[in-house]
Amino acid sequence: MSIHLFDTDFHNPLIISGPCSAETAKQVMDTAILLKKTAKVHLLRAGVWKPRTKPGSFEGIGKAGFAWLTDAKKETGLPVAVEVGNVRHVEEALLNDIDVLWIGARTTVNPFLVQEIADALVGTSTPVLIKNPINPDLDLWIGALERFRNIGVPVGLVHRGFSTYSVSEYRNPPMWHLPLEVKRRFPEIKMICDPSHISGKRTMLKKIAQTSIDLDFDGLMIETHINPDDAWSDAKQQITPQELEFLLNKLVWRKGNSEITENNSQLAKLREQINQIDEELLTLIGQRMKVADLIGIYKKENNITIYQAERWNEILYRGLSGSTMHGLSEHFIRNYFDAIHLESIEHQNRVMNEGNK
Ligand code: PEP
Ligand code: MN
Repeated sequence: MSIHLFDTDFHNPLIISGPCSAETAKQVMDTAILLKKTAKVHLLRAGVWKPRTKPGSFEGIGKAGFAWLTDAKKETGLPVAVEVGNVRHVEEALLNDIDVLWIGARTTVNPFLVQEIADALVGTSTPVLIKNPINPDLDLWIGALERFRNIGVPVGLVHRGFSTYSVSEYRNPPMWHLPLEVKRRFPEIKMICDPSHISGKRTMLKKIAQTSIDLDFDGLMIETHINPDDAWSDAKQQITPQELEFLLNKLVWRKGNSEITENNSQLAKLREQINQIDEELLTLIGQRMKVADLIGIYKKENNITIYQAERWNEILYRGLSGSTMHGLSEHFIRNYFDAIHLESIEHQNRVMNEGNK
């Protein structure tokens, strides 16, 4: 079966759904039948090999899962997608007539693997969806895109958020400005949002999905399971096919709304980029102040004064020396560091004088 998901008859929006992992024949079949019943899903996903962070968790059912996917496809007519992480996976998937392959976030980070997988697809026309790398590195993502484009298979991108060291309400914070930058550079490539792996929990799926629609994404990949709480992987983020239908019905698809002119949507995208960057700046400044608190504790314990002119001059000098590179005026840098310094002193003051009142 030839699939043109990413060119001529691309469904817009493209809805991809199915379990995180194929677990049993019944689970795959029941999920597929219910997804088909929604009449809103275009592609059935299920991982047969699972890249787990630690050994010992369920690492996928392996090739046995292909027969279940083939049966589900026969029963529902839905084309099927699996994740491939090496050449052997690609060969098995091609042997089993899998319609679409996806490259997982942990694979996109590795150019050797990406190139080997791309080479294994030479001469085929199986579409490949490329998830963003786990780290927020646009060039790695774009590099993978180019490797697959170079061999001529149809490609699409999946935004699944980026891992972060800091505490976050997301499993993988979306950092929307990054996929938007890729969309700006490659407007012809379809961008699918994966709210499941961004959120890590059911409650946030709708909000993330709606944001992606408002940002003019081309589709959604959402994990579904007939019995999410009992899923063998990613249980917290999966929903039932019925819940998916409910969620999709609640979303406002703004595309095609004639009141939104191209200019307006361009402006909305730029504004969303600004909002995201501001949010990240404030998060970082908050983290900076937490470090200042720790310094306050250290200074208190070691009887050191809060203000130390030498250190402050060093900070200011470092900031000013980067002003041209960042395209910021000296005037702005001075104002910015004044404000930061003041807030930092207030934080340290609070820490040092705690209990002295
Ligand atoms: C998945 O889709 O189940 C998966 C493993 O995703 P990611 O590569 O985005 O972590
Ligand atoms: Mn998953």
